[in-house]
Amino acid sequence: MKQIVIATRNNGKAKEFKSFFLKYEVEAISLLDINDDLPDVEETGDSFEENAALKAEEISRILDLPVVADDSGLEIDALDGRPGIYSARYAGEKKDDKANMYKVLEEMRIVSETKRTARFVCVLAIAIPRNKTVFKRGICEGTIAFSEAGKNGFGYDPIFIPNGYEKTMAEIDPEEKNKISHRKKAMDQLEKWLGNL
Ligand code: IMP
Repeated sequence: MKQIVIATRNNGKAKEFKSFFLKYEVEAISLLDINDDLPDVEETGDSFEENAALKAEEISRILDLPVVADDSGLEIDALDGRPGIYSARYAGEKKDDKANMYKVLEEMRIVSETKRTARFVCVLAIAIPRNKTVFKRGICEGTIAFSEAGKNGFGYDPIFIPNGYEKTMAEIDPEEKNKISHRKKAMDQLEKWLGNL
């Protein structure tokens, strides 16, 4: 069976990718399955594409195998695209979902209803040894709520209202979130590309 490495130590993401690739008879191996002392690649790029490519290309170079890496975040129009690539550490180096969310709510306090547009972005980079890296992007459009609501999901889900809904991503059933999310849309793009191989 063909193999692809998923550049993540996040068990949830690893599982999602494994079942996705299995449909194409490709075995997906995550960094959790590999005992090697692989480096934690620093996200020093200034776009989702650059950061995803840094991770995928570095691990691919070391293992000489095809590697998929993802980078994601929240872009808010009224904040000139912030938190963007800094989503995970918006309120400081310690990754703190709640602190990040409250920082956004505070910065958005006086922004009117019609100017609260935002989107979740997910970029997948696929690095194949001796080939040009391929990118797939998925987005989920929505608006920023005035206060948090809901317990599901993670990150900015309690303050993000996807277009077409009147509740936050954290109030939506996780199965439903997985149908409309930026990650799912990026995977759909990847699926189209795999179909062309
Ligand atoms: P990473 O791509 O796993 O590094 O995620 C970057 C950050 O973006 C996360 O720490 C969250 O703050 C935010 N983020 C990415 N995807 C989601 C999502 O589906 N819901 C809420 N927040 C998200």
